[in-house]
Amino acid sequence: MRLTGSNTIPSAASLPAPTPRGREITIAYLPLLRGTAVAILGYFLFDLVTRLLFPSESDHVVMVSAVSVAALLAIGIRRYLRQSRTAAELEVAGGLLCLSLFVNSNLQQLLYFQVENLAYTVLMIPIFAALLPSRRTIIIATAMNCASLLALVQYNMPASLVDYLWIACSGVAAAIALSLVMRRAVLDSVRARLDAVRDREIAEALATETRHLAECDTLTNLPNRRSFFIELEARLERLRGHGDPFVLALVDLDGFKPVNDTYGHAAGDEMLKTVAQRLTMIAGDTAMPARLGGDEFALIASAPCTHSETVLQLGHRIEAQLSRPYELGEYTCKGSGSVGLLVCDDPALSTHDIMERADHALYFAKRALQGKAVLFNAALEHEMMASSQVDKALRRCNYETEFTVKFQPQYDLIKSRIIGFEALARWESPELGTVSPDVFIQAAERAGLIRPLTQVLLTKALTAMKDWPDALTLSFNLSAHDLMSPQAMDSVLETVKASGLPTRRIEFEITETAMMSDFNQARRAINQISEAGHSVALDDFGVGYSSLQYLQQLPVSKLKIDRSFVGQMLEDSSSFKIVRTMLSLSQTLDLGCVIEGVETEAQMHILRTLGARHVQGYLIGEPMSADAVLPHLDQHTVPGKARPDIRPPGLRKVGA
Ligand code: C2E
Ligand code: CA
Ligand code: CA
Repeated sequence: MRLTGSNTIPSAASLPAPTPRGREITIAYLPLLRGTAVAILGYFLFDLVTRLLFPSESDHVVMVSAVSVAALLAIGIRRYLRQSRTAAELEVAGGLLCLSLFVNSNLQQLLYFQVENLAYTVLMIPIFAALLPSRRTIIIATAMNCASLLALVQYNMPASLVDYLWIACSGVAAAIALSLVMRRAVLDSVRARLDAVRDREIAEALATETRHLAECDTLTNLPNRRSFFIELEARLERLRGHGDPFVLALVDLDGFKPVNDTYGHAAGDEMLKTVAQRLTMIAGDTAMPARLGGDEFALIASAPCTHSETVLQLGHRIEAQLSRPYELGEYTCKGSGSVGLLVCDDPALSTHDIMERADHALYFAKRALQGKAVLFNAALEHEMMASSQVDKALRRCNYETEFTVKFQPQYDLIKSRIIGFEALARWESPELGTVSPDVFIQAAERAGLIRPLTQVLLTKALTAMKDWPDALTLSFNLSAHDLMSPQAMDSVLETVKASGLPTRRIEFEITETAMMSDFNQARRAINQISEAGHSVALDDFGVGYSSLQYLQQLPVSKLKIDRSFVGQMLEDSSSFKIVRTMLSLSQTLDLGCVIEGVETEAQMHILRTLGARHVQGYLIGEPMSADAVLPHLDQHTVPGKARPDIRPPGLRKVGA
């Protein structure tokens, strides 16, 4: 099921090497010499037969033997040239063939000189030049032929030496012409053929490489996003045509970014490769793993049984594999992955519908149960429909008119005063009615719309704050997505500056989620906020990792203890202990601490005894509209409007 070609990608280095000269010579001269061996064999056999059938005085036994040896040599060389030979071996074979002709012709002349036979010697000069594969052998052969020609003439008819000198010169000229012109023409044509072959090989190698790049992820060698969608489409076709259901698993690593940030990109790459290997192992031959990008992976598996328990087992196997330790060079690291599972058995769904559902299961797994598998079901479908309505409404809404900001007071138990307000966003959608901020903030983050929304809310909050007494502060919630974007941070700080309000009066609340996705960027953003003169409060402290590292490494000046602990403090002793511990932690680290969600006198009483100073909750005041802030302050003590020993406002409940 996996795409092929993963380990055999031709690289530039493995492309065919340039054609060496030796190869050209082999290709050009091997068939030439094979043919010549046959022709020379034919010549010697004919010579031998005529000498035997029509003997003459010149048919000395020495000549018959020499011709026989030459014929046998031609047979041997023909056999030798049956397989491919190197240029040097061809040089030797060609040299021997020419030598057999040379020896026979000269032996004949030595024994029985005939002037007309000198023509053979002259003819041999250009013939050898055409046959021999190297310049070196051509020069030697030409020199030997000329020398023997002139020696025979000098010995037998010295008067004609000058004439034969000219004939020898013509022979040499013919040899040069043949070796230069013909040899080059033959070699050029061979080179052109080899170049064409090589070009084709390069083109094929590049096509394979391009195909591989288009289909596979280069880091992990898994099929990439494109291949994944092709396979998904094919599976969907099979479901529609033959009713074959399948399972889609989307996998997202938990805490991959911190690994990358802490141990470096090489370690991050190693982790991704390990995940790829583990998914490949789970996939076996029947499923296709893929890397969709970043730390997102997928698995498309056949589903002979779509029973939820069986499908969840696949998810649990993925979970188990991903939570095994990772060997990242010199580090060993823990990890886990969230898995969203979907049984694809409805032929009416499109790839988009399938991805949306599996993505929602993954989102739920990530949000609620990191490191666990979640199978898409009816409840999730209902939730998804609702959130997709929110997404749609959010995309077409008018931020200015539909969004408002409410303000919830924060109270100082020692000074018995309201010290500031937290800005809380509200959305009154004409289509959907009132939408909870827990829902629309997440939707805006998902849809990438949080930046403009933050801007509108901050501007509204700052505008309302202009009428407040100077001593009051504003706490404004920033989304993790705001912190992750340097541009968003710039415009947040710019907006505060443009309002003309002193930066010390505006505090930003951030949650640990921002630190978990990219600690370095979160640190940069928080430093930037702090350098601009704002204080930073760590919101919902206690529900996340509550890491001391964040508190020590970041200029955080306040903790906000999550309302869930206060709510259960009286009934649940561990919640009580958590509140007590977090209070002493803030004192030890010399940090401010706001306890959220104080609803009853009893809670307030215990918090006082624990030494809590700042509280926020319905007992003090519910979130109220901007217009209600000043009348509310009039009823309570605020710095600058001193009524020193007013009762704690918690005793009078104020409506939102
Ligand atoms: P949060 O920052 O923890 O805000 C406090 C939430 O607790 C608010 O819910 C508030 O109405 C609620 N609350 C306050 N006192 C009590 C109490 O005594 N009992 C109970 N049960 N609840 C109390 P809300 O307004 O629904 O906001 C929910 C979350 O939405 C906020 O939690 C915050 O994370 C987010 N949010 C709200 N406004 C904004 C905003 O302008 N920007 C961003 N990024 N997030 C916002
Ligand atoms: Ca908050
Ligand atoms: Ca909070």
